[in-house]
Amino acid sequence: MDEIVEGGWREFLEHEFGTSEPPDERLIAEMVVDEPDKHPWRVVDAAYDRLSCAECGGKLSRGPAGCGPCDLANGFRYTAIEVDRPGVPPGNEHSLRVNLAVTRRPSGVSESEVLLRRLSLPLLLDGHLPTRGTAHATKAMARAGATEAELAAFVYSEWRNA
Ligand SMILES: [Zn+2]
Repeated sequence: MDEIVEGGWREFLEHEFGTSEPPDERLIAEMVVDEPDKHPWRVVDAAYDRLSCAECGGKLSRGPAGCGPCDLANGFRYTAIEVDRPGVPPGNEHSLRVNLAVTRRPSGVSESEVLLRRLSLPLLLDGHLPTRGTAHATKAMARAGATEAELAAFVYSEWRNA
């Protein structure tokens, strides 16, 4: 799952510094999160992974809901740049970004929502995007207490046709 943002991070390092292993990655990460709106979201998310939260001690932006610095960072991450990949429906990249953020920081989100977001990641990566109706139907099933297997089966069959 982390590979989704790690790939973006390595590309960014190669492009900006000519190597994917620069000597001071941490310093670069600090520069990136100082200006999240200047970088693609994968780069910003990967930069946060390289910094620790002074309050909860976890990866910055991924601590428990209610941790001040993490809440703040989790909000700032959404100022980062988002560009749809070639050949995917508009909005796919946004869905991927939000679903990944929640999956990687599930604190404060209901279990059924986290499950749905996690299940949808492989399909979003494949370039699928559910219609509004399909997304609603999936959520309704989750709320009604469908099992993970039932949800996975529904998501994989319905979303592919969307
Ligand atoms: Zn924290």
